[in-house]
Amino acid sequence: MSVVASGCSTAEVKEEKMQTGNGETGAPLSEGKFSNTEINYSNSFSKIWDISAKYMKAKRQEPQPKQQLPVSRINTSDLGSETGPVLYRLGHSSILIKLDGEFILTDPVFSDRASPVQWAGPKRFHKTPINIEELPPIKAVVISHDHYDHLDKDAVVKLADKVEWFVTPLAVGERIVEWGVDADKVIEKDWWQSVELGSITLTATPTQHFSGRGLFDKDKTLWASWVIKGVQANLYFSGDSGYFGGFKEIGERYGPFDITMIETGAYNELWSEIHMLPEQSVQAHIDLKGKAMLPIHNSTFDLALHDWFEPLEEVKRFSEQHKVKLLTPIVGQKVKAIEPQQTVAWWRGMMPVEDGSQPMLAAGSTSN
Ligand SMILES: [Zn+2]
Ligand SMILES: [Zn+2]
Repeated sequence: MSVVASGCSTAEVKEEKMQTGNGETGAPLSEGKFSNTEINYSNSFSKIWDISAKYMKAKRQEPQPKQQLPVSRINTSDLGSETGPVLYRLGHSSILIKLDGEFILTDPVFSDRASPVQWAGPKRFHKTPINIEELPPIKAVVISHDHYDHLDKDAVVKLADKVEWFVTPLAVGERIVEWGVDADKVIEKDWWQSVELGSITLTATPTQHFSGRGLFDKDKTLWASWVIKGVQANLYFSGDSGYFGGFKEIGERYGPFDITMIETGAYNELWSEIHMLPEQSVQAHIDLKGKAMLPIHNSTFDLALHDWFEPLEEVKRFSEQHKVKLLTPIVGQKVKAIEPQQTVAWWRGMMPVEDGSQPMLAAGSTSN
C-alpha cells in the first residue's frame, strides 16, 4: 500500500498530473510548493521584523509553569483491557486513541524539546504519561505536518517497529522513509483522500498552515487535519491551522464528530492566519459540528508570547459563552469519546495570583 514513489517525489507526481489535467483535486501545488486556498502566507522581512519587535516588548507573567505540570501515568495493562472508544492526551498535539479495539497515535512527540537539536529550543513542561517502550502495538501513527512540534524524528524511529502504518499528508512520508522507516508502512494522502485500515477510515482534510523544517524547504510537504472514523466513534484531529472556511466544509462532509481535537495555543494576532486565536478554535469546533471539544497544542511547549495557562483560560471562557462542551483532561487522563465525563480546570491551581505570591485556588474549577 506504500505510495512513496521511488525515484520521484509524490509532489512531483501530483504536479505532473495537475499539468496534464488529470482530474487531480486536493491541495494547490505549484513549482514543488503547496499552498493554502484562502491566503498566501509568507514570512516577509517586515513580518519577521514586527514579530521580533513584539517578542522584545512582550511582558508575560509565566511563559512556562513554575513547577512540572501534573501527569496521570498510563498503565499498559489498563490500555489492553480498555474497550474504548477513549482518548489520552500525551501532551501538545500527541493523542493516543483506542478505537474499534485498535490504537491510533497522532503527531507523536516524546522528545524533551520541539527543536532540531536537543540542547536548545522549547523544552516540555511535563513528562510523557507513557514511554514509547510501554506503548502497545499501534495500528496507525497519523501525522498532520512536518513541523518539529508535530513530527519528532526520534519518536518516529523508536516507534517504527510497533507501528503498522504511518499515515501522512503528501511528501511528509518521504521524510520518514529517509529516516529508515520501511516505505511499505507509509501511506501519503492529499486533502480529501481516505484510506481504510480495517474498520477505521482516515481522511486527510485541509488546514490553513505551512510546512518546513529548515531554511530551504518551506511548503515542500503538505499539511492536513484528519477525520478518524471508526464504528465506535467519529473523531476530528486539527493539526495546526488558522481559522478558515474549510472547517465548515469538513463539518458538512464528515461531521458530526463525537470529539474534535482542536489546536488552541501558540497563537498571536500577528500570525493568526496560520494559528487560531482561542475564540476561533471554539468557532472551528462549532463549524465542524463537534459534540465535545478537546483543546490541543497547549500546556507542553512555550511556542508563542502568551502565558502557559492562557489558552486554557481563554478557551474555557469562550466555550462557556458558546455553550460548547469542553474537555480539559490532565495529561494522561482517560477521556471517553462517547458521552465524555466532566473534566476540571486543573491549571487554575497553578496560576499566579495578582501579587505573584501564591497560586490561585482551584475553587469552582469544574469545566463543562
Ligand atoms: Zn505547525
Ligand atoms: Zn504546531
